[in-house]
Amino acid sequence: MITRMSTLFLRTLREDPADAEVPSHKLLVRAGYVRRVAPGIYSWLPLGLRVLRNIERIVREEMDAIGAQEIHLPALLPKEPYEQTNRWTEYGPNMFRLKDRKGGDYLLGPTHEELFAQTVKGEYNSYRDFPVILYQIQTKYRDEERPRAGILRGREFVMKDSYSFDLDDEGLGESYRRHREAYIRLFDRVGLRYVIVAAESGAMGGSASEEFLAESTTGEDTFVRSTESGFAANVEAVVTPAPEPKPIEDLPAAEVHHTPDTPTIETLVDFLNASEMGRTFTAADTLKNVLVKTRQPGTREWELLGVGVPGDREVDIKRLEAALGPAEVALLEEADFADNPFLAKGYIGPKSLQDNGVRYLVDPRVVTGTAWVTGADKTDHHVVDLVCGRDFTPDGTVEAADVREGDPSPDGQGTLEAARGIEIGHIFQLGRKYTDAISLDALGQDGKPQRVTMGSYGVGVSRLIAAIAEQSHDELGLCWPREVAPADVHVVIAGKDDSVRDGAERIAAELDEAGVRVILDDRGVSPGVKFADAELVGVPTILVVGKGLAKGVVEVKDRATGERTEVAADSAVGHLVGLVRG
Ligand code: ATP
Ligand code: MG
Repeated sequence: MITRMSTLFLRTLREDPADAEVPSHKLLVRAGYVRRVAPGIYSWLPLGLRVLRNIERIVREEMDAIGAQEIHLPALLPKEPYEQTNRWTEYGPNMFRLKDRKGGDYLLGPTHEELFAQTVKGEYNSYRDFPVILYQIQTKYRDEERPRAGILRGREFVMKDSYSFDLDDEGLGESYRRHREAYIRLFDRVGLRYVIVAAESGAMGGSASEEFLAESTTGEDTFVRSTESGFAANVEAVVTPAPEPKPIEDLPAAEVHHTPDTPTIETLVDFLNASEMGRTFTAADTLKNVLVKTRQPGTREWELLGVGVPGDREVDIKRLEAALGPAEVALLEEADFADNPFLAKGYIGPKSLQDNGVRYLVDPRVVTGTAWVTGADKTDHHVVDLVCGRDFTPDGTVEAADVREGDPSPDGQGTLEAARGIEIGHIFQLGRKYTDAISLDALGQDGKPQRVTMGSYGVGVSRLIAAIAEQSHDELGLCWPREVAPADVHVVIAGKDDSVRDGAERIAAELDEAGVRVILDDRGVSPGVKFADAELVGVPTILVVGKGLAKGVVEVKDRATGERTEVAADSAVGHLVGLVRG
């Protein structure tokens, strides 16, 4: 079917919508793909729906290819399964909750681990049934605090969510690996530039969770990458390269100095440099000791923890949390200092921590043989030349210091630079959290029940459209990669003559017959308006049928590169079919 602009339900806009800040949002609205209904809630118009359907098709093909089976669960869900896993409470204000006429509690599903686990439990019970991977492409609801950038962060959005069910960890690893590969194929097919970043560092088991981030300056996720290699990681997952230990023998002895009014690194460094020691110090020569408290899951007791980082760096609490997970981390309150009078606020040193049995972890740069200026555990006093491995021995290292641009890349190649991305996919080895909650077991070969282990894997299907638009557009409009484009060829009738119109109609009809998806601009508006709309809509190939037809030529324009080619009208169909089939 030829799509005729004269009847297509489409009104393009010349002006950017007032609420739009990022290019994808502006262009998707201006080109008539989506329309806003309420914050984070959008309608799909014909062209937008085509792109959405194309993406869904690609996602389905790649999911089916790894043996996943599509099902469809309701979006309107009863509270009970989410109570069993405690997410009815834990999920917080992002969950849309509602009541039915009898006062029963319901929610609009933000993600479906509970229901998938329950569905499998309802059907399967033998080890022979496993493994199984199920998925759905479904509308999800999250009452996002800040819906943003149109369909990029919606409150209603389309997600592909899949869940794997395996009997053991190796099986889960295999299901995870298959998803990872399916995602790579799928994001390659939709033409995105993206990175895969470990969500957390080794502490949680390395590749237990990875995110796929489409590179984009408008993205909300920050990651770091090497200036020279393909290394990319979440800041939480960056491992600091440790220098070689140094010899201790000839280092000067540690000496305590009276350093009045120097509770900060800056005041300390200024004081030392103005003193008569005759040495120059920088913040990097100081060791800053930050006190936090941690609590293991399932316990009530908080435990003090000292964290030592070079004084030119801050403790990045998110990195610290990721490194210490699953333990909770909290900052000390005044009461904690009162309870532990050996903590000389602003002047804490390794010595009193270790004397008082406080666990002390340091940045990996604090190796044996490094000498530091640090607190002397007495107000207004610091110790100079306190040597690691001689004067103090940390209990281990921790990734807590902030990561900076220019830091060496953990793979040894190049330095790190910060970049931004849009999270388009997330793969996650969940383990038994949900199957424990509902006792999802398979009867093993030995007749004993075996707890099933689960993975959960998401793709932001509607968000992908915004991510692609962010990466492929120019000042004139959208430029879709062919597989997701709403059509293959946008035929512009650029002339009023009947012969031009007839010629264009004939070519459009032949293209359509050859299976090429055609938009035909047959409106009675000026060629300028038609060209502007063709650029805005962003179909990958634009065919201009105009005055040249009298000489037997038409013009083919590549939307992405802007390259124009004159082609004989007689061979235009063959030429275009060739382009489309690649
Ligand atoms: P984000 O950190 O962006 O809020 P998330 O980590 O909460 O996302 P997941 O629970 O991992 O999201 O959901 C799987 C995928 O669904 C995400 O990778 C993302 O592509 C997509 N997604 C999540 N929230 C939204 C939203 N509000 N609008 C559109 N897509 C979303
Ligand atoms: Mg996520």
